[in-house]
Amino acid sequence: MAVSSVPPSPFTRDAGPIRRRPTDRRATHGGDTLSLYQQRCRATNADYDSWHALGQMGRRCYNRPKLPGMMTAHPFVSPAPFITRVLCLVCGLCLAGCHLWSGQPQGDGIEALPAGRAALQTWAVSPFEALGPLPAYVIQAALSDGGEVLAGRVSVTVPNTDSTAWPDLVFRLYPNTPHYAARMEVSSVASEGQGALPHALSADGTVLRVTLPRPLAPGARETVTLEFSVQVPTRTEGYTLFGWEDDVLSLPGFYPTLAVRSDAGWATATPPVFADPLFNPVAEYRLTFTAPSDLTIVASGVTLGIEDAGEGRRTWHIVGAPLRDLTLLAGRGWQSVSDTAAGARVISYFPEGDSPAGEAALLHAAAALRLFSDRYGPYPYREFKVVAAPLGRRGMEYTGLAVIGAALYDPHRDELPFLVAHETAHQWWYAQVGNDPLAHPWLDEGLAEYAAFDYYQGIYGRAAAEALLTGRWQTPVRFGDEHGIAGAVTRAADQMDDRSYPLLAYAKAALFFNALREQVGDERYHATLQAYVRAYRWQIVTPQHLLGLVQSVAETDVRPLVTKWLQ
Ligand SMILES: [Zn+2]
Repeated sequence: MAVSSVPPSPFTRDAGPIRRRPTDRRATHGGDTLSLYQQRCRATNADYDSWHALGQMGRRCYNRPKLPGMMTAHPFVSPAPFITRVLCLVCGLCLAGCHLWSGQPQGDGIEALPAGRAALQTWAVSPFEALGPLPAYVIQAALSDGGEVLAGRVSVTVPNTDSTAWPDLVFRLYPNTPHYAARMEVSSVASEGQGALPHALSADGTVLRVTLPRPLAPGARETVTLEFSVQVPTRTEGYTLFGWEDDVLSLPGFYPTLAVRSDAGWATATPPVFADPLFNPVAEYRLTFTAPSDLTIVASGVTLGIEDAGEGRRTWHIVGAPLRDLTLLAGRGWQSVSDTAAGARVISYFPEGDSPAGEAALLHAAAALRLFSDRYGPYPYREFKVVAAPLGRRGMEYTGLAVIGAALYDPHRDELPFLVAHETAHQWWYAQVGNDPLAHPWLDEGLAEYAAFDYYQGIYGRAAAEALLTGRWQTPVRFGDEHGIAGAVTRAADQMDDRSYPLLAYAKAALFFNALREQVGDERYHATLQAYVRAYRWQIVTPQHLLGLVQSVAETDVRPLVTKWLQ
């Protein structure tokens, strides 16, 4: 479908003028940006003018003229580089951002703050409220002056939404996973009115099972309070999902997190390190976070207030719902630029001196948010943040937040558009529609990968999208087939290795979605994905949920495609 034929969506009309913060810098680096795109994309001055003007005015910038040279510099055009670079695809988390206005939050305290209404766009409040009772976190945490220790208390109110009673609650201690390689300790567990509760830690330290004083009946709630501390690591090489590196502190899953509950019980498995670790139900969050004043905090949800805590420290009040995670990053010396897109405030944080790439990240994130809102359904949150962090050339998705490896800001800027598009797509295929990253990693990764086809077709044109299809997915999969790196896409992550995982869960899964699209056509393909989001927004799905909709909405027999591409 040609982009120009797509009718405007009421959800993608941008809001009013942006109220910029004093640190925002924008439209002051035109020469650098022009130079960047002329060098990387061989754009003309006319291309540049359109690009920059569209970004500034917050229009639907995916209508801009394509940049014909972009694909020629794509790094994934040959199989060998693909094999060595596949791990830059590892994705996963999100933080959310900052309505920064000073002063105390209103009401009786942070427990009274309207988490959903604060963080959601107006249209999304109704589907949020229709979810029924959710787990609700109230977290108070503080980072030491030196940044080595994070300590706090989390109270989680857990509703039993099952038809059977629960004898226990299970929490994941993500900092103890090999992915994060930190050390979290829980010093006490108590319930309201019952005092200390017995609890047991798994051998690997990632699962804390809390025995309740009496089984939690269907429809009832239990509030459990856990005191915790985390020894925050500092790394100087490789990439850092959790901890300090280069004046950036990454804190996904820094609090004890309620595990996913299904008919099979509590989900307690940890995927291999090449797969994503976070697997959470959506929840309401209210966070009070105190840290040294020289740190800027970027987090999922919205920041309702920042107050002086004395002795060179500030306290941040952050809320959000429904969030699949509340991830937090802290940094020194960040610059930021912002724009509006798809009804949301989009903010790009990046190191000083990387303004051209930081602005490019903003423009790609805003364009992707608009385009994906049209293709898959509206973006529900008020904010979306893109943050440069020490992930090398990798990215990671969190709720309302995409973390992009700093190497893509410099020197590998040509890889930035693809990765920003991929991570932004996870706002639909992770943050909204969730799935088990161990059992079914191909579901969200395949959809996020193939979303880049939509993005490239919308931004650069059909030829660029076809080049992406060939260079990034078809050629590597053919290479894998020829070299024995093959197998069923539908296998669990722990049945793959670090070579087969990106080829199967990313590239071959993308080819499944490409084959589906070619079979049913663009219109039915996107209608199916929109139905998928509407039906399962903020839920956790299995492949059968998606394949069932393919059968009913796209009105096609999906079995031959499943046999050819997934099995
Ligand atoms: Zn991903």
